[in-house]
Amino acid sequence: MDDVSFLLESLNDHQREAVTLPPQHGLVLAGAGSGKTRVLVHRLAWLIKVEQVSPYSVLAVTFTNKAAAEMRARIEKLLEVNTRSLWIGTFHGIAHRLLRLHYEEAGLPKAFQVLDSQDQKRAVDRVIKSLDLDTKQWPPREAQGFINRHKDEGTRPENIADDGDPNRRQMVRIFSAYEQYCQQRGLVDFAELLLRAHELCRDNPDLLQHYRQRFRHILVDEFQDTNSLQYGWLRLLAGDSGKLFAVGDDDQSIYGWRGAKVENLHQFSRDFRDAHTVRLEQNYRSTGTILKAANALIANNSERLGKELWTADSDGLPITSYTAFNEYDEADFVIGRIKRWVDEGGKRSEIGLLYRSNAQSRVFEENLIANSLPYRVYGGLRFFERAEIKTALGYMRLLQHRADDVSFERVINLPTRGIGDKTVEQMRQYARAEGGSLWLAATRLADGGLTARAGNAVKTFVRLMTDLTERCKDKELHEQVQLVLDATQLIEHYGKEKGEAGETRIENLKELVSAAKAFAYEQSEDEDPLEAFLTHAALESGEGQGDAWEDCVQLMTLHSAKGLEFPLVFLTGLEDGLFPHQRSVNDGRKLEEERRLCYVGVTRAMKELCISHAERRRLHGQENYCVPSRFLRELPSELLEEVRPRINVSRPASYGGGNSSYGGSNGGQSGYQSPQLGGRRRDRALKDDDANTGLKLGARVLHAKFGEGTVVNHEGNGAGARVQVNFDDVGSKWMVLAYAKLQVF
Ligand code: ATP
Ligand code: MG
Repeated sequence: MDDVSFLLESLNDHQREAVTLPPQHGLVLAGAGSGKTRVLVHRLAWLIKVEQVSPYSVLAVTFTNKAAAEMRARIEKLLEVNTRSLWIGTFHGIAHRLLRLHYEEAGLPKAFQVLDSQDQKRAVDRVIKSLDLDTKQWPPREAQGFINRHKDEGTRPENIADDGDPNRRQMVRIFSAYEQYCQQRGLVDFAELLLRAHELCRDNPDLLQHYRQRFRHILVDEFQDTNSLQYGWLRLLAGDSGKLFAVGDDDQSIYGWRGAKVENLHQFSRDFRDAHTVRLEQNYRSTGTILKAANALIANNSERLGKELWTADSDGLPITSYTAFNEYDEADFVIGRIKRWVDEGGKRSEIGLLYRSNAQSRVFEENLIANSLPYRVYGGLRFFERAEIKTALGYMRLLQHRADDVSFERVINLPTRGIGDKTVEQMRQYARAEGGSLWLAATRLADGGLTARAGNAVKTFVRLMTDLTERCKDKELHEQVQLVLDATQLIEHYGKEKGEAGETRIENLKELVSAAKAFAYEQSEDEDPLEAFLTHAALESGEGQGDAWEDCVQLMTLHSAKGLEFPLVFLTGLEDGLFPHQRSVNDGRKLEEERRLCYVGVTRAMKELCISHAERRRLHGQENYCVPSRFLRELPSELLEEVRPRINVSRPASYGGGNSSYGGSNGGQSGYQSPQLGGRRRDRALKDDDANTGLKLGARVLHAKFGEGTVVNHEGNGAGARVQVNFDDVGSKWMVLAYAKLQVF
C-alpha cells in the first residue's frame, strides 16, 4: 500500500475514511470548502489505483464542464494514466453522449440538434403562433417554463391532468405541439436531453443492462442540486450492483427554482441502505473571519441538516463593507480594490467578482475595460449566445444539417439579401404542406412559386450554401469557420454597426475562429469535429470566450460560482430586492434559498471578502432606491469593516421588513432612509400602495384553482377592482377582485 500513500497524505482522517471506503455506496455530507470535491477526485483515483477498477467502469458527474476538465486533469496528474475512457461530465453532457451513441433507440435522427434556451423560446413562440394563439395571452416564456418544469419532473404532456382548467389545458396543448415540432425536426432542448436519456435507459432493458454492467461506480459532485429526474436516472443506472458515491452540502442547494431537490440527500440514505455517510467539518479554504461570517449567516435558515464548520486558519483580515452611492460608485470601489490587489503582486485570476443578476455585470465590464483590466465573464453574457456568434453558428449548423429550420430562419436574410418576411412565410407554408424542411421549400420554390426577384435571392442563398459545403470538405474546423465568415460576409455586415458595438461583434467573430482552433486541438472523440464543436457551443455557452491563457478577473453570477474558490471575492449588490431577489423576499422557502446563495458567495473567498451595496441603482432601465440586504445585517458587525462609514445614517434594527423598492413597487416599509434620499423615497412608496384593493403589489396570494402567485398590478376600485396576479404555475392573469376569492399570505 506504500505506493498509494500519495493518494492519502494530503487528507484528514475523515476525508481518508471516505476515500478508502470499500466498494459500497457512500455519501459525504459536508459544508463549503471542507474538501468534498477533493475527496471525490481522490476516491476516483483510489478506485482505479487500489481497487483496480478500470477507468472504463467509472462515471463521474460534475456540475460544470470546467469542473469536469479540472477533475480529469487532476486524475491524470495523480495517476499518470490516460483518462480518455473515463466518463466525466455534467448531467447534460453525459445525457447528450448517450443519445448520440443510441440515437435510434432514443427515437432521434442521427443528426439531432441541441436547442439552447433562446432557441427553445423561439421554437415555442413559433408553435404558439402555429396554433393560432395570441403570444400576448400565451407568452412563450411562460409556456417554456411550463414545459421545462414538467420535463424536469419526468412528465410528458399526455401525463398531465388539466383538472378541467382551460388555461392548463391550453398549456398542455402547446407542450404537445412543441414536442411534435421538435420531433419532426430532430431538436432536443436541455430538459429533453435529460428526459430522453432517462427514457432511453428505462425503456431499453438490454441497453440498461449494458451500462449497469459497465458503470460499476458512479460518483456525483454537488449532489444537493440534483432534480428528481437526475436522481431517478442515477438510481436506474446504479441498479442493484452499481455503487453510488455522492458528495453534497444541503446549505448550498441553490437550484430549487429549477426543480433541484435537496431532499435527495435524505432519500439517498433510504434508497441505498448500506450507504456509509461521512461528515467533514474542517474548512480548508477560508480565513476564520470569513468562515465565522458564513456560519452566522446560514444559521438564520431553519431547514438545515445542521453543521458547523471550523478552520485551523487564523482570523485574517476583516470583511470589507462598502456603501456605494450608486452602481457606478460601487464599480469604482471594486475596480480600485482590484488595482490594489494587482499592484501588490496578486493575480487577476485570483479575483472573483460575483453578482446576483447577469444584468449587473455590464457596469463592471465597462469600468474594467476603461481601466484596461482583462476579465472573463462566465455564464450570462455568453460568448456563444451573442447574436453574431449565433448567426455564424447558424450557418455552420445549416451546413451540417440542411433540415435545421431554426438555423435556416436565423440566417436566411442575414445579412439582408432581399428575402423578406413574405417569402419566408411562403416557404414555411410550403414546408408545412409538404412535411419537409424550409431548406427543401427554398430549393423547390426558387425554381418557381416566388416572384422573380425573391426567387433569384433564394437561389443565390441556396448556391451560397451548396458552394460552402463543397469548399469546407476536408478542411480543418477553424478553416471552415473562416470560410463561412468570408463567404457570408458577416464581418462586413456587423461592421456596419456603429462604434464599439460593431467592433466588439467583429472581435467576437474573429474569436470564434480561435475558439474553433483551440477546440480542434482538445478534441479527442471520434465524432465529426464540426458536429462536436456545434454541440460544445450549445452545451457550454460561456467557456470559450476571452483568452483562456490570459490572466483575467473572473466575473460570474453567484450561481455559476458554485464549487469555485478565489483568494479575493467581491460580493456585490447586496440590496433587498436584488439580493435577495425580488421574487423571493416574501416567500420563506425561497428566501432561504437566497440565503444559501449568499452563503455560497461568502464561502468562495479564501483570504479577502469585500461586500458592497448601492443606495440607488438603475436596473432594467429603472432607477431604484435601495434597502441594504437583510443578509448584510445577518453578518456579525464585529467581522465587518466599513470602508466609508456614513455619518448621520441611522439604521433601525428592523429595516428590510420584507419589501423593497424594486420594480417601483412599495418600498416604504423599510424605515431605512439615507439623509439625502429619504424624502423622495417616501413619495414613491406611497404612490404604489393600493388603498382601494387592500392588496399590496408584490403580495403573495393563493387562488383556489391557480395556486400561489404574486400581485403585480391592479386597476379600478370598488366592485370593479381588478388585480393582475402572476401565478407560479399558470402565469399571469387579470381577475376581478370581488370574485377571485384570493387568500393573502
Ligand atoms: P465546495 O462546497 O465549495 O464545493 P468542497 O467541499 O468541494 O467545497 P474543495 O474545493 O474540495 O471543497 O476544497 C476546498 C479547498 O481546501 C481546496 O483548495 C482544497 O485543495 C483544500 N483542501 C481540502 N482538503 C484539504 C486538506 N486535507 N489539506 C489541505 N487542503 C485541503
Ligand atoms: Mg466542491
